[in-house]
Amino acid sequence: MHLLNVKFVTVILLLILLGVLYSYIFRAYRIVVSFEQKDKIPVDRAHDSSLVVPDQPAPHADFRAHDSSLVVPDHLQYEQPSIVKGNDVVTVTPWLAPVVWEGTFNPVLLDSIYRPKNITIAATVFAVGKYIMFLRNFLETAEQHFFVGFRVHVYVFTDQPKEVPMVKMAAGRQLMVRSVPSSKRWQEISARRMEMIQTLIEEKLFKSTDYIFCLDVDSKFHGRWGTESLGRLVAVVHPGYYRDKRSRFPYERRPASRAYIAPEEGDFYYCGGAFGGLLQEVHLLTKTCRANFEADAQEDIEAAWQEESHLNRYMWTNKPSKVLSPEYLWQDFKAKNPEIQIIRFSGVVKNYAEIRPNV
Ligand code: UDP
Repeated sequence: MHLLNVKFVTVILLLILLGVLYSYIFRAYRIVVSFEQKDKIPVDRAHDSSLVVPDQPAPHADFRAHDSSLVVPDHLQYEQPSIVKGNDVVTVTPWLAPVVWEGTFNPVLLDSIYRPKNITIAATVFAVGKYIMFLRNFLETAEQHFFVGFRVHVYVFTDQPKEVPMVKMAAGRQLMVRSVPSSKRWQEISARRMEMIQTLIEEKLFKSTDYIFCLDVDSKFHGRWGTESLGRLVAVVHPGYYRDKRSRFPYERRPASRAYIAPEEGDFYYCGGAFGGLLQEVHLLTKTCRANFEADAQEDIEAAWQEESHLNRYMWTNKPSKVLSPEYLWQDFKAKNPEIQIIRFSGVVKNYAEIRPNV
């Protein structure tokens, strides 16, 4: 009887031990499975090279939700930065954004980081009036150099849809044409780009596109422009002014304009002919520049360089997270400076009197 009791208790204890072991193992397994499942949940379309920025804060996250924008208080005074030091290049801004030059990145490494993200990159280009003549060269060279091997959607805005050349595009790359009115003033064509890009993003791109670059059509690609240029907000330093004192930059200098920048303010002079970034960032930029341009127009003011002036004012307060060196928009009429190892994209030489609708 006593022996039976001992056996019975031993069996019960063994069963309890087995039960505890089973539930422990099963729980651990469930935790691992739930991590794996979480990894499979698609991420919102908001990528950066290493940081995934959700559109909306996670519903029950207890973390403080910081946005990653680099907004600087208006009129903060500090020393002018430069992207060159003597004959050397500077590869970081004072707000710690990389300045992209040849030799600062490994294209194979970067492409291998971005390829699995399955991103879509949009490019906008306007070809209104006689500027349609530049489109073929732009499109053909983009096929050779612009995000080769990635999904690229090029949006052409033109008043002559029938004249858009049928350029052969690689798999995964598409050309979309949007009709826009002609204009008698080149200033208006150039300035209304912000509004049209804003509308394009709102109407078409939000669900399908990760990054967007807005480019001038009277330009062509000569070298790689790829994943190294991706970032939250991306600006290109103008080739004409990067060795100048900021008081000489062609910013809008009338305080009455919303694009005004004082002589002792500003970082770099950025190009209106190439800028980009994450879709939601470029949306905010175009919306702000358009609103400021229109508010100025209500008061009969047109900034010195239209949307380029407003873009420069925007970037002065909202620092770009990546700065592209003038390799990313050179000018064909300029001799290559020693620090320029490669020209990737450049504005072609043109006869303004011949191609613009007004002088
Ligand atoms: N543009 C256009 N038709 C015009 C004037 C301008 O399509 O009659 C577009 C075109 O995309 C061009 C951009 O606006 O690349 C900027 O204009 P432009 O090149 O004349 O300005 P710049 O850079 O020479 O000051």
